[in-house]
Amino acid sequence: METQIYKIDKNNIDKDLMKKLGEVIASGGLVAFPTETVYGLGANAYDDEAVKSIYVAKGRPSDNPLIVHFADIDSIKEAVSEFTKEAQILFSHFSPGPLTVILKKSDKLSKTVTAGLDTVAVRIPSDEIARELIKSAKVPIAAPSANISGKPSPTTPKYVIDDMMGRIDAIIEGGDCQVGVESTIIDLSGDVPVILRPGGITYQEIKKYLPDVIIDKHILKSVEKDDRPKCPGMKYKHYAPDADVTVVEGDSEKISSKIKELLSENKHLKTGVISYGVNEYNADLVLSAGNDNKEYAKNLFRVLREFDEACIDVVFAEFCSDDGYGLAVKNRLYKSAGNKVILV
Ligand code: AMP
Ligand code: MG
Repeated sequence: METQIYKIDKNNIDKDLMKKLGEVIASGGLVAFPTETVYGLGANAYDDEAVKSIYVAKGRPSDNPLIVHFADIDSIKEAVSEFTKEAQILFSHFSPGPLTVILKKSDKLSKTVTAGLDTVAVRIPSDEIARELIKSAKVPIAAPSANISGKPSPTTPKYVIDDMMGRIDAIIEGGDCQVGVESTIIDLSGDVPVILRPGGITYQEIKKYLPDVIIDKHILKSVEKDDRPKCPGMKYKHYAPDADVTVVEGDSEKISSKIKELLSENKHLKTGVISYGVNEYNADLVLSAGNDNKEYAKNLFRVLREFDEACIDVVFAEFCSDDGYGLAVKNRLYKSAGNKVILV
């Protein structure tokens, strides 16, 4: 398949081009597009065949449901059987933005998009290009991250092109993603609200409005055989570069001496380090995650891809604190490391 690439300026969106891309979605095609979290791979959520082709393009397991993206709350109401009071509260404070809510689905949605579940994940992105695409398609857009399944999610157009060229109809190049990790997923279909995936909206922010919210136990541990996590995606290998990643977590001074020790033990390999701020390591490639967890979230997936481009064998990642975006960063780091964590 020939993939067309279109560059779009967020500050001066070409409406005619967006109309054309909206028609590609409406007529069953696949378009990769920027969102504030990561790049998405979109299809018409009401078209079963189009949704199936997302799974094929990504190599995504068919039991892992997709998030459906809407332009406004009114259009969400058609896709769910009940838009609950809690959903109203969360959407009024955090949407448009990096928040995904799980609600009971209506009959209008295909079984493929929800992987046979009776619930659906819904979100209203804030990125202007994403919003314009949904509006011009005139249908909700089912969109997982625009990467080959298992790889780090793309936060710059380059990595969408690397993974999706020749597999989909079109790619919109719309600059770097501002948040850099995926949306926070919160399940409102049960008795208590449960955070299934930490992301661009923190637990503390949600707790202000839904005080009984809890965090799913699978967020920071590997899923055991026979375990059935509420969020099917948790079972799968995720965010993994080709390099072998180990997280070194704890007090910052102890982290650096531990990483130095690991680097000298692994001299025979090509080594990489993800460090906060300054580089004090003697490794083949040291990449900065930034100075705080917000920057770490924005940089993490790009940095993981850069280690692969440099053919690095082993990566040691500094991780200090759960503050702010920390839980979201830690969840992605643990998964990219296959839960190999050294606490110091
Ligand atoms: P991604 O498309 O890569 O952002 O992943 C979406 C995540 O949302 C996956 O981990 C899915 O398992 C999860 N998800 C989507 N729909 C549902 C749902 N109805 N219930 C629980 N988790 C869901
Ligand atoms: Mg993904």
